[in-house]
Amino acid sequence: MNEMTSSVIRARNPRTGQVDYTCPAFPASGLDALIAGLRAAQPGWVTAGIDGRATVLRAFCTALAARREDLLDALLADTGRLHESRIEADAAGVWVDCWVEVAPRSLDTLPRDTGLAGITGTAGFRPYPVVGVIGPWNFPLALGLMDAIPALVAGCAVILKPSEVTPRFVDVLQAALDEVPALAAIFRVVRGDGALGAAIVDQVDMVCFTGSTRTGRLVARRAAERFIPCFTELGGKDPALVLEGADIDRATSALATGATLGAGQQCYSIERIYVPRSLHDGFVAQLAAKVARLRPNWPDPAQGHIGPITFLPQAEILRRHLDDAIERGARIVTGGAIETHGGGLWCQPTVLTDVDHSMLIMREESFGPFLPVMAYDSLDEAVALANDSHYGLSAAVFGPEEAAQAVARRLDAGGVSINDAGLAPLFIGSPLVPEKTAFNHSGLGGSRTGADSIRRFVRKQAILSNPATGPSPWWFSL
Ligand code: NDP
Repeated sequence: MNEMTSSVIRARNPRTGQVDYTCPAFPASGLDALIAGLRAAQPGWVTAGIDGRATVLRAFCTALAARREDLLDALLADTGRLHESRIEADAAGVWVDCWVEVAPRSLDTLPRDTGLAGITGTAGFRPYPVVGVIGPWNFPLALGLMDAIPALVAGCAVILKPSEVTPRFVDVLQAALDEVPALAAIFRVVRGDGALGAAIVDQVDMVCFTGSTRTGRLVARRAAERFIPCFTELGGKDPALVLEGADIDRATSALATGATLGAGQQCYSIERIYVPRSLHDGFVAQLAAKVARLRPNWPDPAQGHIGPITFLPQAEILRRHLDDAIERGARIVTGGAIETHGGGLWCQPTVLTDVDHSMLIMREESFGPFLPVMAYDSLDEAVALANDSHYGLSAAVFGPEEAAQAVARRLDAGGVSINDAGLAPLFIGSPLVPEKTAFNHSGLGGSRTGADSIRRFVRKQAILSNPATGPSPWWFSL
């Protein structure tokens, strides 16, 4: 596990188990000055306009792309994964282009007729001066930039605090920032622990938080006390429903990936599967055969499929969920072990049957490559089981299009993939897909997707102008 003293972060490498990296933690005592600097620089960033900001952000993306190999090395050491790190490393440029394209339309300030006595209304959009972005360890780069980029395009200054568990990639990000001083003045990345995160929430004008529901609740509470907007994207226990008539070969292939990408350490991972009783045995056999072919990405990170457990305490949660399931009668069809390679821990992708909702593995976020499969007898029962959760991040439905669409509309989940698993995470942060919000305890606040989600970062003004020269009809006659 990472250890932190008041001034140093020591990071464990999940592939070796060794603490092989140290860096200074940003001192909380320096936060006042840092945020004052951001506040001072932000009006100039607004004045640059969207085009000016786009030029600066594109220069940053070029500087980052030139360091792609260093970035991949750092992300590999941080998370233990290469395949997923490539996806992360290539996202920044795409996000900048998308947001720069849609921002002028989403932040359009053309005057409009109000329909009231000739009065015109003009929208005013005033960026929040300083936005705090606090991110988790599982996709450390993407889950920071995903909010930071639209905030910067909107005209905000940003302070980003990634998790202390995955600090290495910040060196590369900072090197790219140093090459673009205009951005470095309004985008600061600081490394530190949860206390630093809490101190940031105490000072910024708006906060975007991605992480656990437990910490999200603390952040939201503090933000409420300060009357600042808070957007939280939190944990999940995402269900997949297989319907009668589904293409079982497709469903099992999609789920074998959708439940194990990132070694299941992603909020949008499929963590429970419901199948009609008549299809159950054949489905489980196919799913288990495919899942058994997934290999750890050891010793060569470019080979295999499953990365190590990034954050050591997570192994304890995985073991507890498995033990609890087995104690309550679940059967492991394939997998079931946490292996040690080098000094790191790899969780085998695990298919289980004979599960029910008394088990932790069906109720609590596991954050691992588990695929528990439960049989159902009616569609109503399947929908009720899928919705029997305090989470509501995403879901998947497999079946004939019309039936699957109808079921999707009954699910308490913000993003629903049909005949695929994990489409929602591919598109989070994208302005090009419909808006979606987290349901239940998976988060609070406006959508991260959709063109208008950039409006999260601005305060809205209604500027109403009366062109009349005579008295207004609602005035007192004086
Ligand atoms: P945590 O909630 O533990 O931490 C998230 C971030 O918050 C870290 O940077 C952490 O710092 C910081 N933090 C800790 N305490 C505080 C505090 N009191 N105030 C402000 N910030 C604080 O989450 P994890 O890092 O463990 O991430 C895993 C969780 O994230 C899972 O539940 C997962 O589902 C969720 N997640 C949600 C996503 C979504 O889009 N919905 C996407 C990805 C993950 P530090 O780590 O340095 O202590």
